[in-house]
Amino acid sequence: MSVGAAKRGAPGEGAQLTGSVLAVHGGAGNFGRRDRGDAGDRARRAGIARSLRVGIDVLAADGSVVDAVERAVRELEDCEEFNAGRGSVLTARGTIEMDAAISRGTDRGAGAVAAVRRIANPIAAARAVLEQSCHVLLVGEGAEEFARANGIAFCADADLVTDSRRHQLERARQRRRISLDHDGDVGGTVGAVARDARGNLAAATSTGGMTNQLPGRVGDTPLIGAGIWADNATCAISGTGVGEAYIRVAFAHEVDALVRLAGLGLAEACSRALDRLDAVGGSGGCIAVAPTGPAVLRFNTRAMPCGQVGSDGEPEVRVYADE
Ligand code: ASP
Repeated sequence: MSVGAAKRGAPGEGAQLTGSVLAVHGGAGNFGRRDRGDAGDRARRAGIARSLRVGIDVLAADGSVVDAVERAVRELEDCEEFNAGRGSVLTARGTIEMDAAISRGTDRGAGAVAAVRRIANPIAAARAVLEQSCHVLLVGEGAEEFARANGIAFCADADLVTDSRRHQLERARQRRRISLDHDGDVGGTVGAVARDARGNLAAATSTGGMTNQLPGRVGDTPLIGAGIWADNATCAISGTGVGEAYIRVAFAHEVDALVRLAGLGLAEACSRALDRLDAVGGSGGCIAVAPTGPAVLRFNTRAMPCGQVGSDGEPEVRVYADE
């Protein structure tokens, strides 16, 4: 597995050339070493491992690659340690507004929702947009109406809000900051990418956005080509980090273009796209998978809970750049 910007071209890349592979992330951020080994760290590692198992089981049972990434992301949305579903960060108004997207490599089909409220699994709503509508992105009340009409489960606002996110908002307000979900506080945006044994690719991402963001703010997560991409010919990508920077560099499309037009390998393409992000002052990471080879996991922050698993392997889970 290759993890972190410092490990470009790490030994082992290319070891697993074909076959199913699934990778997930739980958000890039700059939380410190003092968190290592604490209860939260253990819970996040366990969440990542569970998500990998759930996703790879779908592929092992010959399920679709879209099912695999949706199930993997749902598992992380249900884990309140992460900034998606329950446990999402709060806006400046103290509300939760979530974005999610799913992208299918077979036909570049995509579905996304933005600024939705009271939905415990926004990724299911994104999938409904992909499969039950002729649109790509629905926002706010329209997205919620569509989700309700398509059988997506709703909950109360209070079911999604946790005490630790309330405290996080208080701290951000005091510092007058809009912060990446785990700049100093851990538990981030979630995403998954996968390839099945036939070479089909898919990606899915879900987030509560950034702490203390303005109500109505939409990040990169639901914007196809910014935070997410899947094309069987090149790669599937799920990004995490400062969304405005991802939008400004068209991050996921940049990785695709570097593979498709410049002929770069996926690992190099991800590193170059992160350099471009860095150049506009953005920080974050991504997970990606190509038609062959293992998944690539890269970040320019101090940490990104993440991991990958192949059809025959035990899940590998990592959090810090130096692991
Ligand atoms: N990219 C997300 C956003 O800007 C945040 C994150 O990945 O942590 O909404």
